[in-house]
Amino acid sequence: MSETPDASTVNALLNSPQHRTGLNDLHLEVTAVTRRYPWLARVSGVVPGMADTDRTQWEHPNLALRLAIPDAADALGPLIGQAGVCRRVYTVAAVDYDTSTLDIDIVVHGESSPMMRWHDGLTPGDRVSFVGPRPHAAPTDAAAAGGRNHLLADGSAYPAASAIARALPGVVTVIIALPEDAAQAGSYNADFPGAELRYAASSDTPLSHAMTTLEIAEGDTVWAGGEREDIRAVRARCLKELGLPKAQVQVFGYWRHGKTETDADVARLTAVAELQKQGRTLEDDLAVEI
Ligand SMILES: Cc1cc2nc3c(=O)[nH]c(=O)nc-3n(C[C@H](O)[C@H](O)[C@H](O)COP(=O)(O)OP(=O)(O)OC[C@H]3O[C@@H](n4cnc5c(N)ncnc54)[C@H](O)[C@@H]3O)c2cc1C
Repeated sequence: MSETPDASTVNALLNSPQHRTGLNDLHLEVTAVTRRYPWLARVSGVVPGMADTDRTQWEHPNLALRLAIPDAADALGPLIGQAGVCRRVYTVAAVDYDTSTLDIDIVVHGESSPMMRWHDGLTPGDRVSFVGPRPHAAPTDAAAAGGRNHLLADGSAYPAASAIARALPGVVTVIIALPEDAAQAGSYNADFPGAELRYAASSDTPLSHAMTTLEIAEGDTVWAGGEREDIRAVRARCLKELGLPKAQVQVFGYWRHGKTETDADVARLTAVAELQKQGRTLEDDLAVEI
């Protein structure tokens, strides 16, 4: 097991041009805290500096923000000169550049965590700093190349899958693993216009199980986001069982059972620092031991 990198290594990695290019330091002034669904909160707000950023930065179908959330115990905060703060990544669920407003949708999960505590105490008028937006992978219009797009998402990737489905006409199937009884099924269709929506049955790896019901043809692309071990299983099915080329497999671990996002960041920074010593770069995030 490699050693956790020291403060100067961590800062050099996080402030490198490679990491910072195109990112803005902004903040969100909260205007409303609502519930989209019993399990999904929505935080809406104004971003004062948005009009000074490049409009095209906000047009990508899958954008993420790294929010600075209070956490006195965070291990990474002191290393990057932000003691008392942890960093949590969330998707831009909706954005309107003309009014400098955006929404983020937050899974209300049962663990006691920095994000859950922050959300519980949140009221209009509060502010949160963030870095972003950072474009994350989204399929292109596969139909143009004779293929189709399939999306698989648990609650954490629901905002991203919905944003992609709303932006991209070529999404044919969406499988969602909801953190609640699927009895409320029908109400989610509007978030995935034009796609056939399917619901994964509850299990430790719901998306990879539900994937067996997908008819995936040559030329199709699979995009998936969710719990890391579930996503690793999705990837194995795509690459090993179905033999899809890597270019048609876009899969991402959004969180990990029993680990915090800070644990994941530290593991990733440790792996990147170690690879850098060997003159290499991180090519496979899912291979990092968290
Ligand atoms: C690119 C990207 C985009 C993301 N977008 C979103 C988004 O739009 N909405 C969203 O809700 N999440 C999103 N996530 C996931 C989110 O960042 C993590 O769930 C994060 O760990 C939540 O922080 P926390 O402080 O609540 O929990 P942490 O302090 O990180 O973890 C504390 C405990 O909570 C558990 N936990 C964390 N998340 C979940 C969960 N979703 N369900 C059940 N248990 C959990 C952990 O396993 C751990 O045991 C995204 C992640 C990435 C990488």
